[in-house]
Amino acid sequence: MFTEEEINTLCLEAEVSMNTPPTSESDTAAVLLNTVMLMLPLMLAACRRGKCIAITMNPVAIAVSGWNWGGAPFLKPLIDEAIELAVTLDCLTTHSFDQGVPGRFYACHAERQQFMHWLVTNNIVANRNLEVGKVFECQTSIKVCDNCKCFLRSAADHYKVQVVLN
Ligand SMILES: [Zn+2]
Repeated sequence: MFTEEEINTLCLEAEVSMNTPPTSESDTAAVLLNTVMLMLPLMLAACRRGKCIAITMNPVAIAVSGWNWGGAPFLKPLIDEAIELAVTLDCLTTHSFDQGVPGRFYACHAERQQFMHWLVTNNIVANRNLEVGKVFECQTSIKVCDNCKCFLRSAADHYKVQVVLN
């Protein structure tokens, strides 16, 4: 089940406004249900277009593959940062779909967007081993590509964190 803080984050990201803050557990559950119902059509639309959807629960966040931001509730992709990290990890791979920015195709994959967002949210910086064993856990709607597996494996070593996919 969600914590109250997670629900608040979820509502915030979905731009759901609450006129009256939830006062009981059943109110909280109703708000959560409404939020999920609002998000479902967006997620289905993204899936129909062949986009990968990646979801994390801590923090609650939804990412859709692609470098054009679809707006809330989806994460705003940190493309430049993801490319920069791929260079640092020595695993930048170009693709014919990069459209002028080397590495952009893989940088915008949904699970990679989630990982970049997770680093920022948790204030994780390489070589600053404050919270050993922090876990990045992410679910994707389609299979994780080999390039993302390789990137996330290297990043896990680099930041001394654990990566759990699907
Ligand atoms: Zn990928």
